[in-house]
Amino acid sequence: MKAAALNEMTFTELLEVAAARNIEFTAAPSRAELHEALVDAAPTLAERDCACAECGETFAAKRDHANFCSTKCRKTWNNRRATRGAELYDLFMALRYDRKWSSTVGMWQLICRLASEWKRMDNEAGRTYVRPEKWLEANRAWLKSINLGVVKIGRGNKA
Ligand SMILES: [Zn+2]
Repeated sequence: MKAAALNEMTFTELLEVAAARNIEFTAAPSRAELHEALVDAAPTLAERDCACAECGETFAAKRDHANFCSTKCRKTWNNRRATRGAELYDLFMALRYDRKWSSTVGMWQLICRLASEWKRMDNEAGRTYVRPEKWLEANRAWLKSINLGVVKIGRGNKA
């Protein structure tokens, strides 16, 4: 369990987690003492139940941001993502850099329909979408820092 997750819990919830983990105090603990004891117990608190993004099965995650129950599920999910990504790459590049042709074929609408179809297939198969937080964390500042000359990335960037 990460410190951030603990920060979001009420005092009562922290007490309940401590009790469930058999963490004992000699006197009634303050919130800070409770927090510290739970962070110290992190190795045993780290396991939590997660649903696999590929098969939907519940599993005990040993680290934060674990999305898959097994290597097989992770590979299956990532292979489908790579295939979809390649399709989307071609369509998006055409949308962005071949605007005239894209508008005649209704490219944006096609991209949205494709995403809807992927979502429908995922829902049917019990798969979930994984928000690209890791990617953002790793790339957002870098992309925003690139000087593209006339074109600026992001909305409201009117420098
Ligand atoms: Zn799985």
